[in-house]
Amino acid sequence: MSTPRAFVAGLVHETNSFSPIPTNLQSFAAETVHGAGAPYRPVAIDTMGYGQFATLCQAQGIEVRAGLYALAAPSAPLQARDHAAFRAEILDDLRRALPVDRVFLFMHGAQIAQGCDDVEGDLVEAVRAVVGPQVPIALELDLHGNLTARMIENATFVVACLEYPHTDYPERTQHVYTLLDRAARGEIRPLTLAWRIPLLGIFRTTEGPMQAFVETLRRAQAEPGMLTISAFHGFPLGDTVHTSASLIVTAERDHAADAQAIGERLSGAFIDAALRAPRPGSVDEAFDEALACDRWPVVMADSGDNPGGGCAGDSTWLLQELLQRRVERAAFGMLWDPVAVDFAHRAGAGAQLRLRIGGKVSEMSGPPLDVDAEVMCVRSDVRQARFGQGEPMDPIGRSAWLRVQGVDVVLASERTQVWEPRCFTEHGIDLSASRLVVVKSSTHFVNGFKGVAGHVVFCDSPGSLCLDPRRIPYRQLRRPIYPLDTGFMPMATPLGQFDPRRADS
Ligand SMILES: [Zn+2]
Repeated sequence: MSTPRAFVAGLVHETNSFSPIPTNLQSFAAETVHGAGAPYRPVAIDTMGYGQFATLCQAQGIEVRAGLYALAAPSAPLQARDHAAFRAEILDDLRRALPVDRVFLFMHGAQIAQGCDDVEGDLVEAVRAVVGPQVPIALELDLHGNLTARMIENATFVVACLEYPHTDYPERTQHVYTLLDRAARGEIRPLTLAWRIPLLGIFRTTEGPMQAFVETLRRAQAEPGMLTISAFHGFPLGDTVHTSASLIVTAERDHAADAQAIGERLSGAFIDAALRAPRPGSVDEAFDEALACDRWPVVMADSGDNPGGGCAGDSTWLLQELLQRRVERAAFGMLWDPVAVDFAHRAGAGAQLRLRIGGKVSEMSGPPLDVDAEVMCVRSDVRQARFGQGEPMDPIGRSAWLRVQGVDVVLASERTQVWEPRCFTEHGIDLSASRLVVVKSSTHFVNGFKGVAGHVVFCDSPGSLCLDPRRIPYRQLRRPIYPLDTGFMPMATPLGQFDPRRADS
């Protein structure tokens, strides 16, 4: 082929099998770009790795043909007919784009559709069937993906971000760009090995044993012959037979023995770090810790109701706790309640209202609270910076700041996690004067609240993102798995190997 030509597509959804929020085409509407297999053109929304990869290619004179990009906030499994429509659109786009000498797919790794528990593996297999065995394909994923043999057998490279919060996507996309370019030029002959690591958990990489493990992984990736290494934490709320942590090593083919040794060593280090990683406290433990701390503001994660993990974002458990404990100078956000937001907007700033807030979507939301509220501020234009970095591009919809019994409560009409302080400060709330700020997020807020939070507390609150696997009603999960099965210690087992003969054929 004369001019190199890339095909790029993205379908991104982290699926929570236990989420009360249904998922269909409409869930993706705000972040959908129909590429139609035509030359890539930048768009106004943040398309993450999809847009970055295309831009990197164009800067190097590589022609880019654009496939569908569609992202939805985490929620329940996608309806079967909508999954079929997305899949068909991407494959049609690809056929229009042919011939291509490289393919980049930006996905999550934990997407489930009705009738398909491995959306990524299914798509990359179909893409492989279209492009044939020679064209390198890269699949860039979230480290919360549940890795499958089908992904590895069909993609040349499967690469996850390494950090949680996911602050390293730009770095990883650049890394994937380089790998794909070298493979397309025939400079490297990759071989992939992977291990399933039967454990469940949510692990921050900003501190402690998991931070040290990521440093170890980065050093191993720089060793001779290694091309790329990723550690998948897995997504515990996706109920599939693939759900677990995993480790994947891609190396030059003549370094297979080194890759095997490095993979086994890293799998052991990953297990060791996961077993020693801190786990979030109960509601009582979290509040006791937060109220005993004098480094204000203490920022507390309402992990169990994180919209970023498929939750409704309207649970009232921790707001009730704030009100019952009569915590003064507290802030709470964002409660997803379009109806209450509408009432606040109609009433306007300064109004006093008797209002029912939160607790509407499912039994995991807790009871609605009937409160006397003062409307402090209403807005329709507040946006947040995703992962707490870059320009604020993610809208929170219509929003309102209510004061309820001395607590500053932010309500929003869009269901979204708290990435950073703007959802409070844009309304005029001074967080430096707050004692305790409760945010609906698990970990991603940590980056955005750097320099704001005096101390951070993680609370395993009730909800559909419960972090204690013993309280999750699994049906598909493969057992035994840590920490669900008492007395079981996780050991890495081979997950699969890319068939080297195919690339030789
Ligand atoms: Zn993630």
